Amino acid sequence: MGTPDSISSVKDIEPQLVRLGLVCPDGHALVKMQTKDLEEALLTYFLGNDVDDAAVVRLYGPSRKESSKTFEVSVGLVEISRCFYPRSTHTGAVLSSAVCSQCLPVFYESQGLWDNGLGQRELFFEVEMWFDDGVLSRVEVSGLSREQKRVQMLKDGVGVLPDDDRLVKRRIKELLKENEST
Ligand SMILES: [Zn+2]
Repeated sequence: MGTPDSISSVKDIEPQLVRLGLVCPDGHALVKMQTKDLEEALLTYFLGNDVDDAAVVRLYGPSRKESSKTFEVSVGLVEISRCFYPRSTHTGAVLSSAVCSQCLPVFYESQGLWDNGLGQRELFFEVEMWFDDGVLSRVEVSGLSREQKRVQMLKDGVGVLPDDDRLVKRRIKELLKENEST
């Protein structure tokens, strides 16, 4: 068993991701994913515009360290956080899992000792992407929306708490603050 690679998206392609359907059930662009369908080596990839065609979203990576000078002069390389990401030529499907960075988790009453009685369950989505020579051609996302998840957890007998619960309100405030700073 290898370790998953991560795929992130550059901020300015979010409208394109939405158009391609790379969204959570509430319509937020999914910008961070993990997959074992690539090299399974904790590498990072990202989705960005094609350098020659802004209408195209393609896969870059895996990252190469800046020290490898040859990559600097090659065509079609993009520099992000001092790493170089060559264009990927991957063809085929990539199955990954994603957490929406905009949907809040579902909060519930917990018996746990660590969480002060307030548990939270993140929303995970299964994302299947199809690439053709590195170009993202099709996306399918499956998973429950926050509301559906809440209903399912209630059915399972979990003590789901409303968002206007005092503890929940405080936790949401903290989470929003964390999101702002990242
Ligand atoms: Zn969302």
